[in-house]
Amino acid sequence: MEGLVLSREGNQYRVHTLGGDVIATLRGKAKRQEERAVAGDRVSLDQSATGWAIASVAPRRNVLERRIPGGRGTRPIAANLDEVYVMAATANPEPVLQLLDRLLVLAEANDIPAALIVNKLDLDPGQSLIRRMVRAGYDVFPVCVKTGRGLDPLFARMRTTVSVVTGPSGVGKSSLLNALQPGLTLRTEEVSERIGRGKNTTVSAVMIPLDGGGALVDTPGFSDVGLWGLDPRGLIQCFPDLRPAVDDCRFPDCRHLTEPGCAVRRYAEAGPFEASRYESYRVLLAELDSLPEEWE
Ligand code: GDP
Ligand code: ZN
Repeated sequence: MEGLVLSREGNQYRVHTLGGDVIATLRGKAKRQEERAVAGDRVSLDQSATGWAIASVAPRRNVLERRIPGGRGTRPIAANLDEVYVMAATANPEPVLQLLDRLLVLAEANDIPAALIVNKLDLDPGQSLIRRMVRAGYDVFPVCVKTGRGLDPLFARMRTTVSVVTGPSGVGKSSLLNALQPGLTLRTEEVSERIGRGKNTTVSAVMIPLDGGGALVDTPGFSDVGLWGLDPRGLIQCFPDLRPAVDDCRFPDCRHLTEPGCAVRRYAEAGPFEASRYESYRVLLAELDSLPEEWE
């Protein structure tokens, strides 16, 4: 039997199958697999006298990973995500561009498509934020959870995909999820509490199938995933709008800081992307450079 892993608690997995949810443990080959199973994994199940067991985990399309400090490798958090929604508010709280860009980079670094939700249109139209993000190549959903404006196209998309909603606190994430499916917020909080948010060495994720189709993945620590393990040389690739300029840099190993003939820096002055995106690149690069060396 095939199934979809919804959550893990210790060695027990909740697995969604056509016949309903079952609790399963890892067995045999799956147990020896370094990566174990996480929310979003497609697994095959065997039934024995002692209950259901996960016999194997299907290859992943992508995986959200957390780097373990001290160079001890990575831990998968959730697999096979279709979309990361980075949520911001036009005001209250004011958008912090670098924080939003950081979340977008995390999605890119994990090969997960990202889109933006810009909430609280009733407080401010948020035109410059929306324009900036569209220009960077992202789909933007301008919404007002309070009045319901703009929610239909967003919810339609969420019901056909497996997605994560992340963003600073206070932007309206819980309100949004509650509008999507009443009671949802409560449920995710209950589950993450049971799993012991912050207590485990791993950040556990929980997948919540939506009534009208699709699913949400509740990852208590998406923003804690950090930039561990990201090669500083690969950072520019996580900025889809800055990426094409790299071909015009004079040196192939350009870090796009002070190198002569750097096209990224030159384009930032009057180029196809916004200077603040380049600024985010510089800040994140400095952060990566200050992380301890890895020993793998
Ligand atoms: P979270 O921390 O991201 O989960 O944000 P919440 O959903 O808890 O919302 C934070 C505050 O913003 C709450 O007081 C909400 O009522 C309020 N809020 C949510 N959506 C809107 C909106 O569209 N407009 C306004 N003005 N307030 C909103
Ligand atoms: Zn350069």
